[in-house]
Amino acid sequence: MKVHFKGTRGSIPTAPTFRDVREKVVATLLAARGKDLRSETQIREFVEKQLPFQHGHTYGGNTPCLNIETGSDEFLIFDGGSGIRPLGKEILESGNSGKTFHIFFSHLHYDHIQGIPFFAPAYIPGNKVIFHGGHETIEQALKDQMKTPFFPIPFDTFAADISFETHKPGDILEICDVKISLFEQNHPGVSFGYRVDQGDKSFVYSTDAEHTSPAHGKEYPYIDFIKGTDLLIFDAPYTHSQSIGNREHWGHSSNIMGVELAARGEVETLAIFHHDPAFSDKEMDEFLAHTKKFLDRSKLAVRVTRPGIPGAPSPRAHPTEVIVAFDGLTFEI
Ligand SMILES: [Zn+2]
Ligand SMILES: [Zn+2]
Repeated sequence: MKVHFKGTRGSIPTAPTFRDVREKVVATLLAARGKDLRSETQIREFVEKQLPFQHGHTYGGNTPCLNIETGSDEFLIFDGGSGIRPLGKEILESGNSGKTFHIFFSHLHYDHIQGIPFFAPAYIPGNKVIFHGGHETIEQALKDQMKTPFFPIPFDTFAADISFETHKPGDILEICDVKISLFEQNHPGVSFGYRVDQGDKSFVYSTDAEHTSPAHGKEYPYIDFIKGTDLLIFDAPYTHSQSIGNREHWGHSSNIMGVELAARGEVETLAIFHHDPAFSDKEMDEFLAHTKKFLDRSKLAVRVTRPGIPGAPSPRAHPTEVIVAFDGLTFEI
């Protein structure tokens, strides 16, 4: 499977300003001083491999949307944030029509549905769009956001064949050559996490979920849901102190909670997701470095406090990697 991240920002789309771009160029030219950069190959190598991510790239600002390549002819998409707009454009450019799109919603907060009116394939006759989710009100929410005075054209303008399917935790759906299951999450109005299994490969898309103190308990059903997955896409816009401070009960979690749960769930790669719209690329780089440092320390702490005690848990091996998802990232499982 290939997970294409089309939108990774939470709450509201963000765009870089002219100043942000200018500072990247200045930092890049400063870093290039004295280097032998004559050919385009040398320059590309320098930008892609030697520059800090914050200077040569951007984490992006589109709100949540993932496109999953499963080998099926049908499209599997999670959430309809603003990232679904460039996805729709790419699909049309590659000449696809007469296609079927399965779009699963974690929940119906605006940052997860706002891209739907801009999803061009929905306007093409002969396409089929099936909206899936755990909420009974998907149809109403999608229609309401295209009503006057919020939008110039109504939902009925979509010329594709549109339908809606509601699912429950416990259901196992077989769509696009994968198995999909739902998990109800703690979030204002409830959200759903999705586990996707294909053979021995799997990932969990778990955005907009607040894990409070019961998460530290021995019996925490979420651990079973994420158990042994190759990739956990985890809602972590907050630092630990924010998550237990003034942002408690806002429905989101911290990077520290992500590491803790990924360790216990024996997840291979933890992907930080649903980034704070206020975070600059520099702050995102720092957030990743801080998360990696915490992961290394927590692995070391288990080794030091339980050195070879019979019956003690073995040193933590998971997660083996932590990344910060960004718009345009493709993660192969
Ligand atoms: Zn959100
Ligand atoms: Zn939300």
